[in-house]
Amino acid sequence: MTEAPTNGQSGPHDQTGANGQRRPRLATIWLDGCSGCHMSFLDIDERLLELIGRADLVYGCLVDAKEFPQDVDITLVEGAVSSADDLRKILEVRQRSRIVVALGDCAVTSNVPGMRNPIGTQAVLERAYLENATLHQQIPAEDVPALLAESLPVHAWVPVDVFVTGCPPSADRIFEVIVGLLDGHVPDVAQVSRFG
Ligand code: SF4
Repeated sequence: MTEAPTNGQSGPHDQTGANGQRRPRLATIWLDGCSGCHMSFLDIDERLLELIGRADLVYGCLVDAKEFPQDVDITLVEGAVSSADDLRKILEVRQRSRIVVALGDCAVTSNVPGMRNPIGTQAVLERAYLENATLHQQIPAEDVPALLAESLPVHAWVPVDVFVTGCPPSADRIFEVIVGLLDGHVPDVAQVSRFG
């Protein structure tokens, strides 16, 4: 294990524990993924209570927050960066997070979302919305985020501190990574996780 990285971020800390120390702030976010990595995160089950005992969950599937908050310590990112909206989110996440974890093969390699890359965005849209549609064939142009030319892994756009492979990573692995980071270390994930 090594010392946990930091982006040098410091700022107002309003949440403190019983000992007066600031509690770590934990977030999760979902880009272009199937939600399987978040399902695996929730599979931590009763150990979620242990995490909540050590950190404030400030954004993600268990939190009713519309805006990604400032001053987050650890953010788990599911999914690849595939759309203009994904890109806006990951830039904001990186700017507001001390440690960014690429969670799962889609975040690490672009995996399933990246399967469209050799085909081309326009061909994929035509296949989905024109050729395979029986009614109202039209490629959506409004009210949906524009696809980027390629679906790319998170590290193609922003620095990533920890890579956790797996499709999805197991709940045990996710728990170990979070606990390690809360303890101030980067777990040697390559030794305990694998692709697929
Ligand atoms: Fe889903 Fe697998 Fe991608 Fe996770 S890595 S979002 S489980 S396809």
